Amino acid sequence: MIHRRWFRRRKPQVDCREVGRVLQSYLDDNVEPGFAGKIAAHLDECKKCGLEASTYTEIKRSLGERRPKVDGEAIERLRSFGSKLTDGRTPGQ
Ligand SMILES: [Zn+2]
Repeated sequence: MIHRRWFRRRKPQVDCREVGRVLQSYLDDNVEPGFAGKIAAHLDECKKCGLEASTYTEIKRSLGERRPKVDGEAIERLRSFGSKLTDGRTPGQ
């Protein structure tokens, strides 16, 4: 009469809200190592937060680079492409 299954229920250590709140500090290495481990585990399991974290990382990396790798023109092009998408218009029509 041992219900081991009960123990296999995985309880997330931190939830999405918590991760969202500390994500930027976490990426800046401003959280305790133990806590950072929990966040890392969550990001590993949660697609939504994992995606958010990688987006932040990308932004941080491009901002952190001294050399302007991404020139303003490229950003503008990307921006207008994005707004075309939100307009619902197909480019080339
Ligand atoms: Zn999450």
